[in-house]
Amino acid sequence: MSIRRLPDGLVNRIAAGEVVERPAAALKELVENAIDAGATRIAITLAAGGIDRIEVADDGCGIPAGEIALACERHATSKLPDEAIDAVTTLGFRGEALPSIASVARLTIESRVRGADGWARTVDNGVAVGEGPAAIPPGTRVRVEGLFEKVPARRKFLRSARSEYAACLDIVRRLAMARPEIGFTVEHDGRRALSVPPGEDRPQRVAALTDRALAENSVALDHVREGVMLGGVAGLPTFNRGVADHQYLFVNGRPVRDRLLVGAVRGAYQDMLARDRHPVVALFIDLPGDQVDVNVHPAKTEVRFRDPGLVRGLIVGGLRAALDAAGHRSVQRPSE
Ligand code: ADP
Ligand code: MG
Repeated sequence: MSIRRLPDGLVNRIAAGEVVERPAAALKELVENAIDAGATRIAITLAAGGIDRIEVADDGCGIPAGEIALACERHATSKLPDEAIDAVTTLGFRGEALPSIASVARLTIESRVRGADGWARTVDNGVAVGEGPAAIPPGTRVRVEGLFEKVPARRKFLRSARSEYAACLDIVRRLAMARPEIGFTVEHDGRRALSVPPGEDRPQRVAALTDRALAENSVALDHVREGVMLGGVAGLPTFNRGVADHQYLFVNGRPVRDRLLVGAVRGAYQDMLARDRHPVVALFIDLPGDQVDVNVHPAKTEVRFRDPGLVRGLIVGGLRAALDAAGHRSVQRPSE
């Protein structure tokens, strides 16, 4: 057996599996790109839970016509400031999303920089199939069709359109909560599913995306400990749910699903809630970049804190103090 390099197409497909394992993952990448582009409005259109089609249109900075082809190549990014990973302030920087999606679907990018002409390019499962002028408003519109249609091994892992749709909506909710200044709309199979206007503040946005009644049934958080900040809203214990699906956690503006944070929330409420009940919370944790690594996983939903104990203490202490102040005293145990 001699050693050979994998063909590029195959390398891209393998890499794609890390980035896009389902429509919601592709959608997340596209919406993050729109956010990074400075969009004030992001319009999302889905068909069949995103399996048939995902479309994300933004009014951001656009991609110069001459760079659209490059944007679809692996490891090509405009977001790495002079090679310094630590200085990255955007959601993306790996330059993997568009090429990954383009290798497992039909991807069309139309984009126009203000004051210039628009341009479009289509890549079908790794093969460029056409490009030309595009008449669109300034900004970018990316369309993904037939995800995994030509990759049966991955397609069979997709769930029903209904559950893929639920995952898509969940991702949009989290990103929209992180960026209340941006307006978002979602249309699914021709129906308006979500709409929040640009220019909201954080409590407004959280209430709009969870439950309007949360506004009267929550406390605001505003705590700092050793440079780590905790903000957001915490639902009163009386405003609990039977499922833990309304817990939104953000670290430095990114939605995360992190065991440490979920555990801290559970710990904070444990004496105030029955075992099978869950609070509604939206927690925003902000800390210096050198205190956290948000790149543990390519999908970037896991984080690693330099001082996990500090973060846990801040969350448990901050939540308890805020709820105590609102009159929801936790049962004090003798050992505490
Ligand atoms: P990354 O976001 O990590 O840079 P992507 O593959 O997601 O990698 O995108 C590659 C490049 O394409 C980006 O760096 C950016 O320059 C450009 N791009 C992608 N989407 C948009 C968009 N919606 N608006 C403007 N530029 C975009
Ligand atoms: Mg990106």
